[in-house]
Amino acid sequence: MQLMEEKILTEGKVLPGGILKVGSFLNQQIDTAFLKEMGVEIARLFQDAGVTKVLTIESSGIAIAAAAGMELGVPMVFAKKHKSSNVDGSTYTSVVHSFTHNTDYTIVVSSDYLCKGDVVLLVDDFLANGKALIGLCDLVEQAGAKLAGAAVAIEKGFQGGGDTLRAQGVRVESLAIIESMNDVSIAFRPQN
Ligand code: 5GP
Repeated sequence: MQLMEEKILTEGKVLPGGILKVGSFLNQQIDTAFLKEMGVEIARLFQDAGVTKVLTIESSGIAIAAAAGMELGVPMVFAKKHKSSNVDGSTYTSVVHSFTHNTDYTIVVSSDYLCKGDVVLLVDDFLANGKALIGLCDLVEQAGAKLAGAAVAIEKGFQGGGDTLRAQGVRVESLAIIESMNDVSIAFRPQN
């Protein structure tokens, strides 16, 4: 998505440790017009996949997952990061290693919201080593639901998570794939 690459080049900031900061349009302030465009593009990519639900992890995936769900006309479910009193009864859980915080956390979703007949599209803001998406795949598998694939706003291709998932047969679509980045330049992987 050309516009995503332009936004990253003009507004993104590369931080030490291989982190890209996009707080001005995706992670703190949200460019709502652009968010809608992201939802439209994800819906276009997966329009024939029979998606019945969009699944993400709180909190940074919620906005883009909701935008995708709105355009696809299906509900969006977000996995919570801790077992809380808001989630009771039967649940699916998985342990995820956080790239940005370097800790493990548990993701949990109620079995009321992820069912056997569902065709699930995973959506997230970033794809780095792929641990967040692998945890979400695990929840989908526990529910006995079908995986349509994954859509992410920004894939950091140099970390390899996306290509590992593709090699395992998961359809992964990224609105931009960063091949390399440092504090002076960001290079993208060409996409059709
Ligand atoms: P992964 O599990 O693929 O290693 O990392 C993906 C998760 O880590 C995303 O949900 C995202 O919140 C966070 N993340 C990974 N890399 C970055 C980054 O460069 N910038 C930001 N803002 N978040 C990132």
